[in-house]
Amino acid sequence: MSRRKPTPKVKEQVANRAEYRCEYCQALRSYSPSPFDTEHIQPYSLGGLSILENLAYSCHGCNSDKSNRIKFLDPISDISVPLFNPRTCDWQTHFSWSDDTLLIIGLTPTGRATVECLNLNREELVNLRELLKLVGKHPPV
Ligand SMILES: [Zn+2]
Repeated sequence: MSRRKPTPKVKEQVANRAEYRCEYCQALRSYSPSPFDTEHIQPYSLGGLSILENLAYSCHGCNSDKSNRIKFLDPISDISVPLFNPRTCDWQTHFSWSDDTLLIIGLTPTGRATVECLNLNREELVNLRELLKLVGKHPPV
C-alpha cells in the first residue's frame, strides 16, 4: 500500500476511469482552464493511501473546497454526514440535475452535504454548463 503521491501512471488511470470528467461536479477536463487533480477521497493528510480505490478525478475547485474533509453538515438535518465517495457511491443516487440542468441538486443527506461543501454550483461552473448545453456537451449522458 502506497503512502507516496500517485505516480503519473496511476493519475492517468484515475483520469481515464473518470472519462476525464470531475467525479463530483461532472465538469469536463477538456473545457476547464484549470488543471484537474487526483484527489484522495480519504485525505492523504489523514492517512489515505494513493491507491486507485482511494483516488478520484477532480477539478481543482472541487478538490480545493473538499480539502481534507470527509464529512460535512447536511443543510436540512444539520447532521454531519459522509461526503460523496465516487468509489462506493453512485452519482445518480445522491444527485440530480435541476430541470434546466444547470444546477446539481443533492437528493440525499450525503448529496446535499457534498453540494454545500464542494460548492458544486459555483458561478463559473453554472456559466460553463450553460455554454456547454448550447453545443450539446451538457448534461453528461
Ligand atoms: Zn468538480
